[in-house]
Amino acid sequence: IPVEPFDLVLFGATGDLARRKILPGLFHRFAVGQMPGSARIIGSARSEMSAEAFRADVARAIREVAPDTPEREETLAAFLERLDYVAIDVGGEAGWSDLTRCLRNDVVRAFYLSVAPSLFAGIARQLDAHGLATRDSRIVVEKPFGRNLDTARDLNAGLRASFAEHQIYRIDHYLGKETVQNLMALRFANSLFEPLWNATHIDHVQITVAESLGIEGREAYYDRAGAMRDMVQNHLMQLLCLTAMEPPAKFTPNSVRDEKVKVIEALDPVPPEDIARGQYAAKAGGDGYLDHVGNPDSRTESFVAMKVHVANWRWAGTPFYLRTGKRLRARESEIAVFFRDPPHTIFPGTGPLKGNVLAIRLQPDEGIRLQTTIKDPGPGGFRLAGVSLDMSFADALGEEAQAPDAYERLLMDVIRGDQTLFMRGDEVEAAWAWIDPIIARFDDSRDRPAPYDQGSSGPEEALMLMHRDHRRWRQIG
Ligand code: NAD
Repeated sequence: IPVEPFDLVLFGATGDLARRKILPGLFHRFAVGQMPGSARIIGSARSEMSAEAFRADVARAIREVAPDTPEREETLAAFLERLDYVAIDVGGEAGWSDLTRCLRNDVVRAFYLSVAPSLFAGIARQLDAHGLATRDSRIVVEKPFGRNLDTARDLNAGLRASFAEHQIYRIDHYLGKETVQNLMALRFANSLFEPLWNATHIDHVQITVAESLGIEGREAYYDRAGAMRDMVQNHLMQLLCLTAMEPPAKFTPNSVRDEKVKVIEALDPVPPEDIARGQYAAKAGGDGYLDHVGNPDSRTESFVAMKVHVANWRWAGTPFYLRTGKRLRARESEIAVFFRDPPHTIFPGTGPLKGNVLAIRLQPDEGIRLQTTIKDPGPGGFRLAGVSLDMSFADALGEEAQAPDAYERLLMDVIRGDQTLFMRGDEVEAAWAWIDPIIARFDDSRDRPAPYDQGSSGPEEALMLMHRDHRRWRQIG
């Protein structure tokens, strides 16, 4: 279904994210007919250049990522006609009136800030001062949203000085993933799972976001952030919230986000013994975390595993184990829900029965899989075997249903005015309020993160965190 006509102003239009994700995402939506022919995208960045030069640059960026189909060039030519460019150094006064002249009054207006967060408040102020921020316009901001509670509050205050909360779209691209939304469908559109979705039936939950890459190209940023800030505070906590939240009364942005905030507020503080930190070690020729950041004393974690308690009626006694890290065995993200073992077996010689595991996989192959136990087929006596009920989207729904990139989905939601998959200001602050004391303890501690082998599943300490509880991590890769 095509969205309404819009003017989208993309600040940071010459940057890495814009070229790799946002502009190709818009192109793809245009190609499938979701972007109306009258929609316009106005790129803006510091560099002086003509609209023609900008279009040529965007064409290059899109050719790098979009498949070379027979229709691509024709569609691309039509897409480029929708583009314009206005040079603005957002710290200065020049260029804003050019932008004003570009914008129409009778269409949806969105400002996408694909720039450093230190520029957010200034851009919001300028948009307001130049009368560009209408009552209905939207402002979209990228991560990181602060580096602690204080900076997140400042960012919120800076944006809210010019925009109301219902106009602010804080991106966490994990929420745009098809499977993440499917988790909500699975829980709230089926009667099978929800009655079992609690501590009585679920033993524990594992949330893993493993990356095989290191911190290439982002060394300076990453060494100031670490896995807690870069991954846990946003992506892992969002996955935790969607898994643990109560059913919202309605599928409206605020109903859903109210329930997510309640989960964060229910989180117990995490004692030191429930966290393991790691840093990927050097190989024979160097190439370790410390080599990458060029600082042999860095105590920043490139891996973290932790045991988290959602202290409420539904989850009392069912821990959530989170782990994320760089240079691990494989690039893999999933939520695995471990149901309790059957209490009794009637089958002689089979040993204790294993609980079902529901694995909600976000990457690489998005899909949902339920591990069950069946009779091993054949006449060889009554033996049991594990089998997966596989709900892989590509198989189930065909090629047509190939999941759009998370950014595409989120961009269209901005135009539709649907904030469900965007973080609300109080949600981000609640997440920082819970994370801050953990990071403060890291900073105060003289302990170094434990080194781990590249291509492994993290340090020994992370394995111990599970073994101690007589549980095991699911294998990565
Ligand atoms: P980048 O450095 O590649 O690009 C920054 C853009 O901002 C450029 O277009 C530049 O011209 C523009 N810019 C900088 N200063 C400006 C000024 N004073 N006035 C006007 N324009 C100015 O950065 P990026 O990697 O594209 O990241 C953009 C934002 O997205 C950042 O907040 C980043 O944290 C976030 N982000 C990036 C990625 C990624 O994969 N690159 C992923 C997640 C989040």
